[in-house]
Amino acid sequence: MKAESIRIRGTVQGVGFRPTVYRLAKAYGLCGDVCNDGEGVLIRVWGREESITAFVAKLQQECPPLGKINQLTRQPYQGELKFDDFVISPSVSSQTKTSISPDAATCPQCQQEIFDLYSRYYRYPFTNCTHCGPRLSIIRAIPYDRCNTSMAAFPMCEACDKEYRDVSDRRFHAQPTACHICGPKAWLERTDSKPITASMFSMLDDVDAVCTLLQKGEIVAIKGIGGFHLACDATNHTAVQKLRQRKHRYHKPFALMARDIDMIATYCHISNQERELLTSPPAPIVLLQKRQIDNSSPTQTKKTSVTFATKSSANLSPSIAPHQNTLGFILPYTPLHHLILKRMNRPIVFTSGNLSDEPQCIDNNEAKDKLSEIADYFLLHNRDIINRVDDSVVRVINNQVQIIRRARGYAPAPINLPPGFSNIPPVLAMGGELKNTFCLLKDGQAILSQHLGDLENATAFTAYQETLNLYLNLFEHQPEIIAIDKHPEYLSSKFGKQLAAANKIPIDNIQHHHAHIAACMAENNLPLKSPPILGIALDGLGYGEDGTFWGGEFLLADYQQFQRLATFKPVAMIGGSKAMKEPWRNTYAHLTSAFNWDKLIQQYGDLEIVKFLQIKPLKLIDRLVEQQINCPPASSVGRLFDAVAAAIAICREQCSYEGQAAMEMEDLVKTNALNNGEETLSYSFNLGILDNIYYIDPSSMWQDLLDDLEQQVSSAIIATKFHYGLAKIIVNTAQKLCQKNDINQVVLTGGVFQNTILLERVKIGLENLGINTITHSLIPANDGGLSLGQAVIAAAKLIKGK
Ligand SMILES: [Zn+2]
Ligand SMILES: [Zn+2]
Repeated sequence: MKAESIRIRGTVQGVGFRPTVYRLAKAYGLCGDVCNDGEGVLIRVWGREESITAFVAKLQQECPPLGKINQLTRQPYQGELKFDDFVISPSVSSQTKTSISPDAATCPQCQQEIFDLYSRYYRYPFTNCTHCGPRLSIIRAIPYDRCNTSMAAFPMCEACDKEYRDVSDRRFHAQPTACHICGPKAWLERTDSKPITASMFSMLDDVDAVCTLLQKGEIVAIKGIGGFHLACDATNHTAVQKLRQRKHRYHKPFALMARDIDMIATYCHISNQERELLTSPPAPIVLLQKRQIDNSSPTQTKKTSVTFATKSSANLSPSIAPHQNTLGFILPYTPLHHLILKRMNRPIVFTSGNLSDEPQCIDNNEAKDKLSEIADYFLLHNRDIINRVDDSVVRVINNQVQIIRRARGYAPAPINLPPGFSNIPPVLAMGGELKNTFCLLKDGQAILSQHLGDLENATAFTAYQETLNLYLNLFEHQPEIIAIDKHPEYLSSKFGKQLAAANKIPIDNIQHHHAHIAACMAENNLPLKSPPILGIALDGLGYGEDGTFWGGEFLLADYQQFQRLATFKPVAMIGGSKAMKEPWRNTYAHLTSAFNWDKLIQQYGDLEIVKFLQIKPLKLIDRLVEQQINCPPASSVGRLFDAVAAAIAICREQCSYEGQAAMEMEDLVKTNALNNGEETLSYSFNLGILDNIYYIDPSSMWQDLLDDLEQQVSSAIIATKFHYGLAKIIVNTAQKLCQKNDINQVVLTGGVFQNTILLERVKIGLENLGINTITHSLIPANDGGLSLGQAVIAAAKLIKGK
């Protein structure tokens, strides 16, 4: 007989880990106990050595679905064990490292119960257990007990309480567990406040009625786990159009929810990896390649693919995702969604329930106030949403997962920091302005908040402040330094300064693109003391070291510092932020930067784009540029994409959402590749040098592009030549800089690298030269990942300073 203590670290609290330990220990005839403490789970066992070894092996195999063992160590137990049974001991609350789990999609067992006529959870829309259900979305304070969540309003009935206390039950210590008797309820309302009569439809209950309404072409606002959604039948073109009109969301693709994988497979290709993501506990929206059966896009009729399509599936409305090769699909992730979709034999639109640019509604009254002009019906419930948590968005590129929006299901799971960061002082990083997240650094881990949206919006900014406060409390985080973006006008930077002043702690201003690069280094586990690498950060905009706007940067960087080695030739952003919404402004800025306008008119005056520009108040614009009034120079690659897109009539007048021009252009390239095979031609860019910095100059690209326009070369080919040429010059520049600085590793980051064609071609190009590339997978390449970079840079500088 032997006594051992087994220490387990990782995500092991609040996920049903102790009952699993209990069950297995019993099965192997072991005595002892298990408890939660500040470091995770501690097990003390007494029994035959073989049994203990078998128990440990089994425990690793049967880790609960939401749990994760990072480390397991076994030691002989020093002292006397007085157990004649195995028990779960009370938690030791010695400075508990609080772990708040992300919300998790309904587990298979709960799914089965809600459709089991004989289960007491039959058709109960809030069924959950230790393997699934709400977590972050309902928590107000620590410790994570029912009384500190929005479930406090629902005292457990006798039956629920029995399961909660039964260590052998799947609901042992499941804080949000509830049933028809004791738990929250869902009900249907009309947005016009008229009463609902039963004769309106045959239905099982209010939740089931939603399905009937959707089938009839109605728009329903549905309160979910982390916010409201708007839903309608995705195959009903009239309903989809109605939703677009009412929501004033004219182009941005809608996400779709389908009952099961098979239904998604009739519309999209799904790899094993994508299937795994769709059915994983985070249940994100997964961007999937459309099958080529869509009659709505005439360029995509490839006969061979039709054989893949199973059964007959209703065609989606062509306005689900206009000009996109991908569709964003999500599976039902709460019992409520499963119950609604059970009878729905086609996908539904599943989009955020918000007014344009605002965050999702989370409160019943707020929703009634804001969504009654959009929806026809509300499906409401009375479990409060404490934290707004949007759906996460992911995709798979070359077998690598990329997170585009990190929210429900992922946040606030900690990200382990690389070697060297284990003993860092607590750091708070405030993030950027758009797609904001903030980040708490402590004990070798980073806690990244869920996606909080664009802070320019007042509601989003308020939510940002509240969420930040909550996180600081939940994680008992007292920052010793606050990291902010260098941009003096970012609301997050201003708020960070206020916080720092109020708490008398220092501020660290972090350059935007350095933060992007450091974030990518950190998530790829590059140690603190790594030698400098080459970071390529391409995005829309970031405040530069010299007070101008950057956005096409090649930086020699480590965690502490950077040196700018190359950039794109700066071009005026005509009208400041207007240039981000009206792509033609960038075309004009680029053309006049490359050529003399009068000469250009002489030679290319017949071109449609030139005629278009001539209608604009060019004299006034020229004067503003000359006098530098609201026309800041920017080396932005995002704006270069806009400029080229507008030249070939994509979003020329206006973009209705960020990145639209680049996304539609990317789609054209893919279509071109599909129809014409690999297109090898590319535009050329020049590489110049000024003050020891390389400049990528697109003038020759513009010359070729204008010639192509005159030759009436198709937009698809122009877009392709632009993408391929851009990738080529990036690779060439990186190669030169790597050789010069004796570097073999390149980080690719920034929102522009969400463009899959550019990313893949740059990656392959560099790898063919024997240069390693490092890219994002755990956090977004866009500004959603910025806060992690800010935090690790501030921490690295502190450590160096000490
Ligand atoms: Zn469950
Ligand atoms: Zn109950």
